[in-house]
Amino acid sequence: MKNKMSITTKIIIAMAIGLILGSIINAFFQEIAFIKTYFVEGLFHVGGKVFVNALKMLVVPLVTFSLICGVCGIGDVRVLGRVGIKAFGLYILTTGIAITLALFVALMISPGEGFENTASGTTFTAKAAPPLTDVLINIVPSNPIQAFAEGNMLQIIFFVILFSIAILMSGNIGKDIYQLAEKLNEVMMKVVTIVMDFAPYGVFFLMAKTFSEQGIGLIIPMIGYFSVVVFCLLLHAFGTFSLLLIFLAKLNPLVFIKKMRPAHIFAFSTASSNATIPVTLQVVEKRLGVNNATASFTIPLGATINMDGTAIMQGVATVFIANVYSIDLGASDYMTIVGMSILASIGTAGVPGVGLIMLAMVFNQVGLPVEGIGLILGVDRLLDMIRTMVNITGDATVTCIVARGENEIDDTIFNDPNAGIITDVELPHKG
Ligand code: ASP
Repeated sequence: MKNKMSITTKIIIAMAIGLILGSIINAFFQEIAFIKTYFVEGLFHVGGKVFVNALKMLVVPLVTFSLICGVCGIGDVRVLGRVGIKAFGLYILTTGIAITLALFVALMISPGEGFENTASGTTFTAKAAPPLTDVLINIVPSNPIQAFAEGNMLQIIFFVILFSIAILMSGNIGKDIYQLAEKLNEVMMKVVTIVMDFAPYGVFFLMAKTFSEQGIGLIIPMIGYFSVVVFCLLLHAFGTFSLLLIFLAKLNPLVFIKKMRPAHIFAFSTASSNATIPVTLQVVEKRLGVNNATASFTIPLGATINMDGTAIMQGVATVFIANVYSIDLGASDYMTIVGMSILASIGTAGVPGVGLIMLAMVFNQVGLPVEGIGLILGVDRLLDMIRTMVNITGDATVTCIVARGENEIDDTIFNDPNAGIITDVELPHKG
């Protein structure tokens, strides 16, 4: 057996080097024009963007083929409906728990009290958030090609499910298309592996770029807010999810967390649940043993509508800003915050920084000053990276629970430490 390092190990090493190098640049060489132009805004920026683009490039075709296989694999519209309702219900439930937990902890610790609001000149102007009615209307695409072109996940899911049901209804012709989709899915998975082979470089560039621009020093004045958010994220990831995994999915949370590592790394470095879909799907199916029939549906759905980490940030941020501006929020405001965070997470896609737009929606609703978001802007990128890890962990947890209920999880794969480990790809050579 070749004693090669697994891709995950290589990526972790690359990530650490990128982080250290970026932080050194930020601390000592930030002002040097040469480094800024050729490395930070040159090599790191281009390398990182190319890699994120490559990941995003996989999402639409992968979700499409994989979802056709998933729906046709389930083969029964009633079962499909059941999986959908369970997943949706659990996504709402976990987000509800997340925001309640965050509000509870934040109210106990009360970050932001006595905070000197010397409003650092950073201003935040909120982008308009989509009204809920539009969110509902827009689930149905008026033009599926446009939905695919824009990567609008809910619309794609809607169309592909409908298309797959039609495949099931079309007898032999449908069968041919299903088989074709299975082959295309297989090939697409190979494309994922090829892109993953470049991941150590991509992750290195992303880390180096982010940390050369975002010095860790930014955290210091915001340490109160930052640490309460991180504490709640950890509590939810290791507390709530573990309990759900033990009691509802009958799975060992330690094995689960360990196996999720590749997906965590991608979520952290890209800060995008959407861009991480290919990796989450692969981990959940190949390493955790969930059948494609469930995962192909619940993972892209979760990446779009389920954001527990983001909800946690919103809970803590609301209490923090209310404290800084000495605004008293009442019980009904807190209820509104819980409801709004859940709705906001359904209506917005998992892309970097979207949490702040959602936060603006919440603030508008309860009458907190939206410009207050400027205060937390500086530390948001780092928190975004961390909360995205929690977001995708939620997607995977719910997927495992739904899969357990449907008898669609293979415990042998789950318990095999080597199952689905991503290794180097052997590119074909002639001769
Ligand atoms: N970046 C997060 C995600 O993709 C969303 C956010 O919190 O901004 O899940």
